[in-house]
Amino acid sequence: MKQLPETKLNSLAADIKHWGRELGFQEVGISGIDLGPHEQYLNDWLATGYHGELDYMAVHGTKRSRPAELVPGTLTVISARMDYLPGDTETIRILDDPSQAYISRYALGRDYHKVIRKRLAKLATKITEAVGEFGYRAFVDSAPILEKAIAEQAGIGWIGKNTLVLNRKAGSWFFLGELFTDLPLPTDSPTEKNHCGRCTACLDICPTDAFAGPYQLDARRCISYLTIELKGSIPVELRSKMGNRVFGCDDCQLVCPWNRFAKPTQETDFLPRHKLDSSSLVELFLWTEEEFLNRTAGSPIRRSGYQGWLRNLAVGLGNAPTSTAVIDALKSRLAGASELVREHIEWALEQHLSSKTQC
Ligand code: SF4
Repeated sequence: MKQLPETKLNSLAADIKHWGRELGFQEVGISGIDLGPHEQYLNDWLATGYHGELDYMAVHGTKRSRPAELVPGTLTVISARMDYLPGDTETIRILDDPSQAYISRYALGRDYHKVIRKRLAKLATKITEAVGEFGYRAFVDSAPILEKAIAEQAGIGWIGKNTLVLNRKAGSWFFLGELFTDLPLPTDSPTEKNHCGRCTACLDICPTDAFAGPYQLDARRCISYLTIELKGSIPVELRSKMGNRVFGCDDCQLVCPWNRFAKPTQETDFLPRHKLDSSSLVELFLWTEEEFLNRTAGSPIRRSGYQGWLRNLAVGLGNAPTSTAVIDALKSRLAGASELVREHIEWALEQHLSSKTQC
């Protein structure tokens, strides 16, 4: 641990927030390492099995909820948030048009991990220049960390009923990053007030009823989980509820009244690439694997893999209005499809057959 006088630590904490803003973060807070009731909350959530195949949530034990067990010597955590919502992407129009592909707004641009990790590294360099070498590690959604609990402890916002961090001035469309440090910095007051009140809009709108209750997300039903994390077959009973959401889902954010205060991102890296904000399901489904790899290089969409991408788009096409283009696209991919993709294509084709029969 670095020994610094209290006055120096106080001014350093103020400087860190200032430098953070200069580096493009909208807000920076400092948390201690006691995450209070969040450890119990995590354990209860795991015990119910709501994490599904997210085994990584369970395997790290208390390292996830106790920062000093993950990085020995950690005394404080700098938590930083960065807005990512691209302005003017006609979000609702795309979501309401069942022939268009809806991709979660966070995934339209470049992968946030690299962007934020670089900024955190620059912040660490600034601190080193000010006080000399110190112990730190930067994380961006990349290690067993309760980043939302840390953000709440750092005063960035409260965890809403939709389980996302909400900020009164910025809503919830932001990424979080953390710098674990061995500096005994003064910590910010935790966000104590929860401003969800009696609102239940996010719980009510969820297309797949993924909320077992306020603050209780059953990941196994969440479209983000189904389209990104799940490697196998999407449960048949959930497919028609997914609509045209082919990579993630934003419904619980779109409906949140606090997102009236969200600001468009200043980061060009987060702006849509390859028309991902305005492509039809058919167009994306017809991407070859090479096109997929080229167009998703440096994008969070890579996470689903090509087979997962086709699987998700097949579900979207099964929910699209029946047309020759849709049916031809589905049929064109049957030959050579993996077992996983074939099964989803067959399901999609059945939807169109049954809708024709009903007419
Ligand atoms: S939609 Fe309502 S209940 Fe849900 S997070 Fe926003 S304010 Fe809270």
